[in-house]
Amino acid sequence: MEIAKIKPQYNRRQKGIRATAYITKVAFLATLSFVLYTYLRFPIFPIPPFNVLEMDFSAVPSLLGGFALGPVAAVIIECIKVGIKMAAQGSATGYVGDLSNLIVSLAFVMPATIYYRFNKTRKGALIGMIIGVAANALVASLSNYFIIVPMYAKLFSPALMEVRTLFAFGYGLAFNLIKTVCTCIIVFFLYKRLSKVLHLGIKPNSKRIPKKQLTLENGKSVLTHSASETAEAARLLAATLRGGEVILLSGELGAGKTTFTKGLAEGLGIKSTVQSPTFTIIKEYTGEKFKLYHIDMYRISDESELSELGLEDCFADNAVTVIEWNRMPDIPKDKIIKISIKRLGDDDRALTAEGIIEK
Ligand code: ADP
Ligand code: MG
Repeated sequence: MEIAKIKPQYNRRQKGIRATAYITKVAFLATLSFVLYTYLRFPIFPIPPFNVLEMDFSAVPSLLGGFALGPVAAVIIECIKVGIKMAAQGSATGYVGDLSNLIVSLAFVMPATIYYRFNKTRKGALIGMIIGVAANALVASLSNYFIIVPMYAKLFSPALMEVRTLFAFGYGLAFNLIKTVCTCIIVFFLYKRLSKVLHLGIKPNSKRIPKKQLTLENGKSVLTHSASETAEAARLLAATLRGGEVILLSGELGAGKTTFTKGLAEGLGIKSTVQSPTFTIIKEYTGEKFKLYHIDMYRISDESELSELGLEDCFADNAVTVIEWNRMPDIPKDKIIKISIKRLGDDDRALTAEGIIEK
């Protein structure tokens, strides 16, 4: 079972405020995008017929919105932009032009914001935008070749068909690359400046439980009310470890054993994401002071399988080992810390510890 990302917690009032903030931001960005799309456009090649390729910056708000609020926001902004234009102005091209414009824009903002959604770093934003630029170039060229040029030729000037290839894969391609690259550069410089405003809203429950209440002590129960609190308790425990400890986690499926391990890993300075080792049985991470071995013995049925795993490394002094569903009978007692996690409700857990080395 993969562990779900530890989500911030919001109460109902906070959820309402967040939803309102989201809608307000999307509406504002969509309006801005529409205005840029409709009123601020200019040709970049002065020679007919290529002067129909008009530059605009309407993807700036949608890309910004997509980075700050997620890919869905980017799609909504693009749809509203094109939707209002079609409704307000009608279309000389029977809407085919607007619709293909929408598809071409989505080919740009969707890959960029979806990639960023899963890689939220500066590098992630850059790679996302490169993918977006490439996808846009491909989709736009094909759309020009198969839809736009034939349509304009039919409606306005049959001579256009003679320059169809040059239009789609020459000027059109260059035009779209210029347009999306300019958009990316603008967004790249604006995002940092605007991200405070774009993230205005409400912070996760700030009423944090004092550290002391989340500190695990032998024989005492710590109550947690969210995954992040369980992770925090583990983080605090991590700070007290000296190396060589073997932490045995018990608790039913979904109790929070992997969540606990995730917090422990963070506390040990491990940067990569801890995932449940149910299928790999053992996973190794390198922290600041110690290695962390995370073992899940759920799928081990007899002791002979254990010897095949080569667990010797795990019990070194420069390592901390976490075992879910322990099946090993012979771990030295003085190294063991037992943590049991009991599910009290949807989000409530009781953590009890045994064997913590006290100062
Ligand atoms: P296990 O490894 O024990 O099977 P996981 O850590 O994978 O359990 O899953 C625990 C689930 O319970 C996660 O989806 C987590 O978000 C959720 N959860 C809700 N409240 C808590 C809490 N107080 N402590 C830990 N997990 C919680
Ligand atoms: Mg687990």
